[in-house]
Amino acid sequence: MNKGKLYLVATPIGNLEDITFRAIKTLKEVDLIAAEDTRQTLKLLNHYEITKKLYSYHRHSEETKTDFLIEKLNEGQSIALVSDAGTPAISDPGEEIVKKAIEKNIEIIPIPGACALINALITSGLNTREFSFYGFLPLNKKLRNEKFEVLKKEEKTIILYEAPHRILTTLEDILERLGDRYIVIAKELTKIHENFYRGNISEVIKKVESPKGEYVILIEGEEIKQENTLNNLSVEEHYKYYEKEGLEKKEIIKKIAKDRKVNKNEIYQHFI
Ligand code: SAM
Repeated sequence: MNKGKLYLVATPIGNLEDITFRAIKTLKEVDLIAAEDTRQTLKLLNHYEITKKLYSYHRHSEETKTDFLIEKLNEGQSIALVSDAGTPAISDPGEEIVKKAIEKNIEIIPIPGACALINALITSGLNTREFSFYGFLPLNKKLRNEKFEVLKKEEKTIILYEAPHRILTTLEDILERLGDRYIVIAKELTKIHENFYRGNISEVIKKVESPKGEYVILIEGEEIKQENTLNNLSVEEHYKYYEKEGLEKKEIIKKIAKDRKVNKNEIYQHFI
């Protein structure tokens, strides 16, 4: 008997129209859908008039449900795995079943679509050539401290996920541990209240008055090597470098002063 195929289907992260034709076709054609939260997925299926057998597949049941789903795949049934929002297995269940499916020689097919981290990154204005995604920061104090030590040295753009009720605490922790770095916060991507806050952490914290909504946090990497190179330029060339990155005068002067470890006024003198 032929084995079934496992489809990893990306679903919208807010706007229900952010789903591909292929994703809808796949959801219609598979034998069953494994969903992180069946009620959530049901809303999507109803919107697209898809009727399909749904099985719950969430973090707490990942191990037992993985075996059950692998069995179904072995019996020849095809399965679409979806999470509540976005791409499965990205800070969501999926990794476990993919590993097991590989072991069992089951074909795995990605059905691409929305992913919060990618959409936040491309809109951030930060370095998109090199970036590191760290998902959710650990809550355990020791593990969290260790993670901050790693983040301190990260030269690439840092991307974090955070739950709405913890966004302010996490921003304050970042400020305390990494200093007043330049960050971008992408709020409620693809939804009515979509918004982007850009600036140094201390400024951004003031702007995030109501923490309601979903957020991606992006932190400018610690450009250790680049900073040294920039400091070898004239102040005017240094200015042009940041201007090309799309920053405004006030921000540029602040950054130059920080790179050169001098007072802001000293840099201002060059541009009056
Ligand atoms: N698998 C998802 C993906 O592909 O992006 C991520 C799921 S993770 C459990 C949920 C986190 O993703 C949220 O806490 C938030 O940090 C981020 N997120 C999801 N949807 C978002 C949106 N519309 N706007 C901003 N952040 C979002």
